[in-house]
Amino acid sequence: MDPDRSKLRLRTLTAQGMGRVAAPYGDIVPPIHPSSTFERAPDGSFPAGRIYSRADNPTYDGPEAVIAALEGAAAAILLGSGQAAAAAVFQALAPGDRVLLPRNMYWGLRNWITGFMGAWGLAADFYDNASLDDLAARMKAKPRLVWIETPANPTWEVTDIAAACEIARAAGATVAVDSTCATPVLTRPLALGADIVMHSATKYLNGHSDVVAGALACAKDDELWQRIRQVRASGGAVLGPFEAWLLARGMRTLHVRVRAACDNAQAIAARFARHPKVSQVLYPGLESHPGHAIAARQMQGGFGAMLSLRIAGGETAAKSFTARLAVFKRATSLGSVESLAEHRASVEGPNTMCPPDLVRLSIGIEDADDLIADIEQALG
Ligand code: PLP
Repeated sequence: MDPDRSKLRLRTLTAQGMGRVAAPYGDIVPPIHPSSTFERAPDGSFPAGRIYSRADNPTYDGPEAVIAALEGAAAAILLGSGQAAAAAVFQALAPGDRVLLPRNMYWGLRNWITGFMGAWGLAADFYDNASLDDLAARMKAKPRLVWIETPANPTWEVTDIAAACEIARAAGATVAVDSTCATPVLTRPLALGADIVMHSATKYLNGHSDVVAGALACAKDDELWQRIRQVRASGGAVLGPFEAWLLARGMRTLHVRVRAACDNAQAIAARFARHPKVSQVLYPGLESHPGHAIAARQMQGGFGAMLSLRIAGGETAAKSFTARLAVFKRATSLGSVESLAEHRASVEGPNTMCPPDLVRLSIGIEDADDLIADIEQALG
């Protein structure tokens, strides 16, 4: 008997990949569809509705349904990377449109927008992530799109999504949220008033550092969403079927991974908040964090598993600390089961806005005591 899925909780739906069983063998794990093209019927129609895999592939159906359910979305699509997902939103706008971006945001996207979208005709303006007054003042320039990233990588400022959406809506702007680090387990931006949610599915959604993927989900299947779909189909930044299948597998453990990593992050933040060799722990789960009250409201059941340490002694001390870590892996990226560390300014390069004494930690699901001991020995 098929259960009534509308009554099942998201954790159940996610663990079971929406509970779909594939015909004709009843596979509990859905098959991969590697075909790049699909046969026409003699009358010229496509009986299963699939034409060519640059537009769509049946392997996407399962993971897209899970992401749509997790986000409470009208629809979701997968793309070839988080950057491709974000780029599709900006490319769906018209030349001449203005976009309002947070001052602190994932540097790769900031660089892409300032480096490429200006030439394409988009004007970009920046607001203080944590100041609704600043956001409201900048709405006077009538941006078409407001971009939110919360908590914002790598300094973890928190933006009040519901309040920002109210301000943006009053000015007629669309709101898109990069919710990569919040994950749909902790925050559901569409329920808070956003129009579009974006994920680097490379991170928590997949969770195993073995796929580069992106996802978008929408509150309404409207004209903008149709344009975004067209950007994927005609621009071609698509995900391979094997990667889509790996992502579907990774997402089955999303809830347990995120909860375990959040618990570890909270324990680590508390442990080093007053350590003499750490000048500041940046983590929204600490009461001392300026965005803590907002995060407590808009993040359900945890404050995320990303935190940054500002190392007393500056850049040289931060680099030596990173070099001495042994359990943490020195690597870029985040959101996987293994903990990663990086001296972030070195990765971002000359135009970084990241403080030079900052080491970004992506906390995984290892034993918290091992991670704490590693940080302690590396601090010396
Ligand atoms: N958004 C955030 C918050 C990220 O951290 C990243 C990558 O680190 C991206 C977007 C881009 O995602 P991808 O690397 O999958 O293109």
